[in-house]
Amino acid sequence: MSIQHSDNCVFCKIVSGAIPSNKVYEDDKILAFHDIAPVAPVHVLVIPKSHIKSAVDITPQDAEIVGHIFSKIPEIAKLLDIAEFRIVNNCGASAGQTEFHLHFHILGGRKMGNMG
Ligand code: 5GP
Ligand code: ZN
Repeated sequence: MSIQHSDNCVFCKIVSGAIPSNKVYEDDKILAFHDIAPVAPVHVLVIPKSHIKSAVDITPQDAEIVGHIFSKIPEIAKLLDIAEFRIVNNCGASAGQTEFHLHFHILGGRKMGNMG
Protein backbone atom coordinates (compact mmCIF):
# COMPACT_ATOMS: atom_id res chain seq x y z
CA MET A 1 0.00 0.00 0.00
CA SER A 2 1.49 3.36 -0.98
CA ILE A 3 1.37 6.22 1.49
CA GLN A 4 -0.75 9.15 0.31
CA HIS A 5 0.48 12.58 1.37
CA SER A 6 -1.44 15.85 1.43
CA ASP A 7 0.36 19.21 1.28
CA ASN A 8 -0.54 21.58 4.11
CA CYS A 9 -1.62 18.71 6.36
CA VAL A 10 -0.04 18.99 9.81
CA PHE A 11 -0.25 15.26 10.46
CA CYS A 12 1.33 14.39 7.09
CA LYS A 13 4.15 16.73 8.12
CA ILE A 14 4.44 14.87 11.43
CA VAL A 15 4.62 11.59 9.48
CA SER A 16 7.39 12.98 7.24
CA GLY A 17 9.23 14.48 10.22
CA ALA A 18 8.88 18.06 8.90
CA ILE A 19 7.02 18.83 12.15
CA PRO A 20 8.52 17.14 15.23
CA SER A 21 6.37 15.03 17.53
CA ASN A 22 6.73 13.08 20.73
CA LYS A 23 6.27 9.56 19.36
CA VAL A 24 4.87 6.65 21.32
CA TYR A 25 4.64 3.99 18.62
CA GLU A 26 5.49 3.76 14.95
CA ASP A 27 5.47 1.12 12.26
CA ASP A 28 5.28 1.22 8.48
CA LYS A 29 1.53 1.98 8.48
CA ILE A 30 0.70 4.00 11.59
CA LEU A 31 2.06 6.50 14.07
CA ALA A 32 1.05 7.33 17.65
CA PHE A 33 2.25 10.54 19.29
CA HIS A 34 1.37 12.76 22.24
CA ASP A 35 -1.19 15.49 21.56
CA ILE A 36 0.34 18.98 21.72
CA ALA A 37 -2.58 20.25 23.85
CA PRO A 38 -3.54 17.35 26.12
CA VAL A 39 -6.99 17.33 27.71
CA ALA A 40 -6.17 14.36 29.97
CA PRO A 41 -3.01 13.14 31.75
CA VAL A 42 -2.57 10.74 28.83
CA HIS A 43 -3.63 12.11 25.43
CA VAL A 44 -2.20 10.38 22.41
CA LEU A 45 -3.24 10.52 18.76
CA VAL A 46 -3.09 7.43 16.58
CA ILE A 47 -3.02 8.08 12.85
CA PRO A 48 -2.56 6.17 9.62
CA LYS A 49 0.60 7.34 7.84
CA SER A 50 -1.47 7.58 4.69
CA HIS A 51 -3.64 10.69 4.37
CA ILE A 52 -7.31 9.85 4.92
CA LYS A 53 -9.33 13.01 5.56
CA SER A 54 -11.79 11.79 8.14
CA ALA A 55 -13.82 8.79 9.26
CA VAL A 56 -16.42 9.46 6.59
CA ASP A 57 -13.71 9.12 3.92
CA ILE A 58 -12.64 5.62 4.93
CA THR A 59 -12.96 3.37 1.87
CA PRO A 60 -13.14 -0.44 1.80
CA GLN A 61 -9.46 -0.32 0.76
CA ASP A 62 -8.68 1.55 4.00
CA ALA A 63 -10.36 -1.11 6.16
CA GLU A 64 -7.08 -2.93 6.73
CA ILE A 65 -5.29 0.16 8.01
CA VAL A 66 -8.14 1.07 10.36
CA GLY A 67 -8.18 -2.53 11.61
CA HIS A 68 -4.42 -2.31 12.07
CA ILE A 69 -4.79 0.85 14.18
CA PHE A 70 -7.30 -0.86 16.45
CA SER A 71 -5.22 -4.03 16.68
CA LYS A 72 -2.26 -1.94 17.92
CA ILE A 73 -4.20 0.13 20.46
CA PRO A 74 -3.76 -2.48 23.25
CA GLU A 75 0.02 -2.36 22.74
CA ILE A 76 0.01 1.45 22.64
CA ALA A 77 -2.07 1.56 25.84
CA LYS A 78 0.45 -0.78 27.52
CA LEU A 79 3.30 1.51 26.47
CA LEU A 80 1.36 4.39 28.03
CA ASP A 81 0.62 2.34 31.15
CA ILE A 82 -3.13 2.87 30.96
CA ALA A 83 -5.48 -0.11 31.44
CA GLU A 84 -8.67 1.85 30.80
CA PHE A 85 -9.14 4.71 28.39
CA ARG A 86 -11.44 6.43 25.94
CA ILE A 87 -11.04 6.33 22.15
CA VAL A 88 -12.44 9.41 20.38
CA ASN A 89 -12.80 10.28 16.72
CA ASN A 90 -14.20 13.66 15.74
CA CYS A 91 -15.63 13.45 12.24
CA GLY A 92 -16.30 16.83 10.66
CA ALA A 93 -15.86 20.40 11.86
CA SER A 94 -19.14 20.60 13.77
CA ALA A 95 -18.14 17.41 15.63
CA GLY A 96 -14.89 19.07 16.71
CA GLN A 97 -12.51 17.88 13.99
CA THR A 98 -9.77 20.48 13.50
CA GLU A 99 -7.09 18.38 11.75
CA PHE A 100 -8.38 16.77 8.57
CA HIS A 101 -6.19 13.68 8.65
CA LEU A 102 -7.91 10.71 10.31
CA HIS A 103 -6.91 10.29 13.93
CA PHE A 104 -8.11 8.54 17.04
CA HIS A 105 -7.61 10.23 20.39
CA ILE A 106 -6.58 7.91 23.23
CA LEU A 107 -7.53 9.60 26.48
CA GLY A 108 -6.66 8.21 29.88
CA GLY A 109 -5.19 8.75 33.30
CA ARG A 110 -8.32 10.31 34.80
CA LYS A 111 -11.97 9.52 35.24
CA MET A 112 -13.87 10.48 32.10
CA GLY A 113 -17.11 12.44 32.20
CA ASN A 114 -20.18 11.91 30.11
CA MET A 115 -20.06 12.34 26.35
CA GLY A 116 -21.52 15.30 24.54
P1 5GP B 1 -9.38 17.08 16.41
O1 5GP B 1 -9.85 18.37 17.03
O2 5GP B 1 -9.21 17.24 14.91
O3 5GP B 1 -10.20 15.88 16.78
O4 5GP B 1 -7.95 16.81 17.03
C1 5GP B 1 -6.79 17.41 16.56
C2 5GP B 1 -5.78 17.33 17.67
O5 5GP B 1 -4.51 17.57 17.11
C3 5GP B 1 -5.99 18.36 18.77
O6 5GP B 1 -6.19 17.69 20.01
C4 5GP B 1 -4.70 19.18 18.74
O7 5GP B 1 -4.25 19.54 20.03
C5 5GP B 1 -3.73 18.25 18.05
N1 5GP B 1 -2.68 18.91 17.32
C6 5GP B 1 -2.80 19.92 16.42
N2 5GP B 1 -1.61 20.28 15.91
C7 5GP B 1 -0.69 19.45 16.49
C8 5GP B 1 0.73 19.33 16.36
O8 5GP B 1 1.41 20.05 15.60
N3 5GP B 1 1.32 18.37 17.12
C9 5GP B 1 0.62 17.55 17.96
N4 5GP B 1 1.32 16.65 18.65
N5 5GP B 1 -0.72 17.64 18.10
C10 5GP B 1 -1.37 18.58 17.37
ZN1 ZN C 1 -2.44 14.20 6.16
